Amino acid sequence: MVPETEQLVICRDRASGLVAVIAIDDTTLGPALGGIRMLAYPSEEAAVAECRRLARVMTLKNALAGVGFGGGKAVILHAAPPGGRAAALRAFGRFAARTGGAYIPAVDMGTSVEDLRIVAETASDVACDDVDPSPATAVGVHAAITAAVRTTGLAPSLEGVVVLVQGVGNVGAELARLLAEDGAAVLVADTDGRRAARVARDVTGSVVAPEEVVAAACDVFAPCAVARVIDGAAISRLRARVVVGSANDVLDHPRLARELAARGIAHVPDFVANAGGVIHVRALRDRWPAARLRAALLDIGRRSGDILEEAAHAGVTPLEVAERAAYAQLDRAGRRPFGDGAPRDREAPLAA
Ligand code: NAD
Repeated sequence: MVPETEQLVICRDRASGLVAVIAIDDTTLGPALGGIRMLAYPSEEAAVAECRRLARVMTLKNALAGVGFGGGKAVILHAAPPGGRAAALRAFGRFAARTGGAYIPAVDMGTSVEDLRIVAETASDVACDDVDPSPATAVGVHAAITAAVRTTGLAPSLEGVVVLVQGVGNVGAELARLLAEDGAAVLVADTDGRRAARVARDVTGSVVAPEEVVAAACDVFAPCAVARVIDGAAISRLRARVVVGSANDVLDHPRLARELAARGIAHVPDFVANAGGVIHVRALRDRWPAARLRAALLDIGRRSGDILEEAAHAGVTPLEVAERAAYAQLDRAGRRPFGDGAPRDREAPLAA
């Protein structure tokens, strides 16, 4: 399902060869904040669809986290832009500037703080061009995992709990370190074998082959890489009791949330668990003291536990509980349906 998008921009720059998409999903709560994903896609259609879905996820995340941003996302459709990386990023910044401040680019898979610094040369507003938000994201995911393990009765703490981290890049490597500090047994998988080996060594953990991730024996599966790793085929092979990670848009289809619940697998929606990055952006902009930022990041744990408890109590999925809460925030802020007035995507949210 592709959600309705407030503004969709296809960007082509002849000089640099850049092809990119900017999806501004919703600006009810503020300018649309969301990362730039840089990845080779099988087709432009696939990139547009993914960008729109990810932009909606940002709307829900930013609403629930109360950070005063709307939701947006961008994708640059090449892992290695034909005219060079810097030229493509500068061209992208010019397109972002043309949105007149409605879209604020940030880091995402495939882009770094250094890349955002280049985007900032031409864009009017950029987040994450000074400090990497990934450690903050990892603190929030760690809090969500701890809460999920406790709330589900799996264990009183992470001591001895087996956690598999899929993707040990900016967020995953820091998450692995935090988990190991708490005594968890950490398994790591990454398509970059050297990176996986390095992180496993650092946390005294073990490496799992990327293609064996879904069926690997573990208590907690923490997807911290690509989107939609849990699809119809994966779900029956999952051996984890808890699914919580940083990766956006983890479920191939929202109905899989019900299948996870039916199999007794606790799932904290990605846009709840991975809000640390956007909270960090708000903290920097408003110069929060470190203690306030830390409290807001740890609050992701409380929110995750509450959502799991409410879902169990009400007999619905955690995804439905989290989406309802996020849409309620948007409604309170006066969000209106598009066009003919039919409340299409409010009646058919992602969890439909
Ligand atoms: P990253 O690019 O730094 O790391 C991703 C890692 O995953 C890399 O090491 C890559 O080699 C690996 N990888 C890619 N495909 C894989 C696969 N199929 N199997 C195993 N490993 C694979 O990205 P990141 O910044 O750490 O973000 C990770 C995820 O978290 C993304 O989905 C991103 O959208 C999400 N996220 C990140 C932040 C943040 O603050 N960085 C905030 C919110 C959400």
